[in-house]
Amino acid sequence: MSGSAEPGDSTLTVAPPRQSLPPGGPMPTVAPPRHSLPPGGPEALDEAVREAFTPVLPQSGLGAPALDALLAYLPEHTVRPAHPYTAGHLHCPPDPVAVAADQLVAALNPSQDSWDQAAATAVIEDCVLESFSALAFCAPGAGSVTSGGTESNHLALLLARDRALAVHYGVDPAQAGIPASAAGRVRILASAVAHFSLARAAAQLGLGEQAVVPVPVDAEHRLVPAELARAAERIAAAGDTLAVVVATAGTTDAGAIDPLAACAEVARAHGAWFHVDAAYGGGLLLSDVRRPLLDGIELADSASVDLHKLGWQPIPAGLLLTRDPHGLAPLARSVAYLSDLDDEEAGYPNLLGRSLRTTRRADAVKILAACRHHGRDGYTRMIESCFAQAAHTAAALAAHPAFELALRPALTTVLFRYRAAHGDPDRVNAALRRRLLSEGAAVLGRTRLPGPGGAPGGAGSLRLKLTLLRPQTTPAELDALLALVAEAGAACDSADDPAGA
Ligand SMILES: *Cc1c(COP(=O)(O)O)cnc(C)c1O
Repeated sequence: MSGSAEPGDSTLTVAPPRQSLPPGGPMPTVAPPRHSLPPGGPEALDEAVREAFTPVLPQSGLGAPALDALLAYLPEHTVRPAHPYTAGHLHCPPDPVAVAADQLVAALNPSQDSWDQAAATAVIEDCVLESFSALAFCAPGAGSVTSGGTESNHLALLLARDRALAVHYGVDPAQAGIPASAAGRVRILASAVAHFSLARAAAQLGLGEQAVVPVPVDAEHRLVPAELARAAERIAAAGDTLAVVVATAGTTDAGAIDPLAACAEVARAHGAWFHVDAAYGGGLLLSDVRRPLLDGIELADSASVDLHKLGWQPIPAGLLLTRDPHGLAPLARSVAYLSDLDDEEAGYPNLLGRSLRTTRRADAVKILAACRHHGRDGYTRMIESCFAQAAHTAAALAAHPAFELALRPALTTVLFRYRAAHGDPDRVNAALRRRLLSEGAAVLGRTRLPGPGGAPGGAGSLRLKLTLLRPQTTPAELDALLALVAEAGAACDSADDPAGA
C-alpha cells in the first residue's frame, strides 16, 4: 500500500486469480473504468447478471473460476464511487487503507459480542469510541459502533425514550413496555427536513411516526430555534412529554447544519434529551478547519456520525456517541454463554452492552487504521478539497445560462436544476438524470426542495444534486461533468416527450 493512498484514487489493486499469476510478478492494476456505472439500465443488467452468476448453488462447485468471474465482472458493472462523475449520494470512494484493514478483519473474523471472540479488537473499539466521543463532546464519553445513521438514530431515540418514560412515568420500558398512560403522548422534535430514519425509529420504538413533530426550517434548510421553542411549549401545554430534540448537522440534501447550541438550550429548558444527527456533517470532527461548524455538538446527549460518508470508510462505519461515559448502560445484558458475572469479576469485559447487535464485525479496526494513516492533517486536506469542489461547482452553475443554482452549499452537496426552455422542468430534469444513468455516463442525485417551512415540495420542486466526496476530483472534471449534464438536458428538453428516457 503506497504511503499516499487516498480514497478516490481511480486505480484499485485487486488480488489476482492464483493460477494465472507468474510467481514474483507485479500485482496487476485494474484500469480505471470508462463508466461511472454500467450502461444499459436495470433490465439489461438484471439479465446479464443472472446469466453469468446463477445458479447460486450449483450441485458441483465451480472452484476458482467462480471467484475469477466476479473479479473480472464486478469492477466494470458496479456503480463506481471512485469515478469523478459518480456524485449522486453520500456514497464515498472507500479509503484503500481502510479497505486493506477491512480485509484483515474479514480474514481474522473476530466477533465483538464477547471478549473470548475478540480480544485486541475489543480494545481497539474502546479506543476509537473514546477518541471520537472526545472529539464530539470535548470530554471522554461512550458509544457504539453501528451499521450507520439509521441504527445510530434508532439507538439514540431508544435511550431518549427510556429516559423520558423513567422520569415522567416511573417505568422501565425495557422491562414493562410503554405504559398505557404514555401512549400517544411521547414527542420527538426534529426539523421538517430531518432524516426519515427518525420517524421509522419512532415507529419501531412503539411511539408511532406521529410522535415526530416537524419543526419549520428557514430558506437554507436550518431548523428555526424560535419555532422549536414554540413547538416545545405546545407539547408542554398539552401535558405531553417532550422526550428528545433532534438537531441535524448536515442535512442529507442541502448539508444544512441546524443551530446546535440554540437547539440544546430548548432541550435543556424542557428536560429533554438532545440528539445531534451528524450522520453527514460528523465527518467535520476530523478537520481542524471545519470543526467549528459543529460548535454546540458538545452539548448533545448523543450524536450519530457516519464515517462511510464524509469519512471515506467502506460501508458500514457508523458511530453513536454518548456524552455520558455510562450512556449505554441500558443496553447491558448478562448472558450465561457470552459473559457470566464471575468472568466479569475476574476482569473479562462484558461486550453485550456495546451494541443492539450480538455477533458483530470489528468495524473499529478500519477506522483506526485510516485515522492513524492520514492523521488530522490528511483529513483536513481531503475535506477542504471537497468544500473547494462544492464552491467551484456552485460558482460554475450560477454563471452558466443552462443552470439554476438552488442554494449556496453548506457542506459538499450542490442542489441545482437544468433550466428547461420547452418541457416541464421536473420532467426534463428527471429525464436527463435517467439518461445519464442509462448511458453509464454519470450518477447525479435527485430530490425535492421543501416548500415554505419545510413541508414536502410539490410541482416545480425537483432538483438535481451533486454530492462531492472524492478528494482527487479536479475543477476541470467538474466542468466536464456540468457540460455533460447540460448536453443531456438539451437532449431531454422537448415539450412532448411523454415519459422521458
Ligand atoms: C445518511 C443519513 C442517515 C442514515 O444513515 P445510514 O448510514 O444510511 O443508515 C441519517 N441521517 C442523515 C442526516 C443522513 O444523511
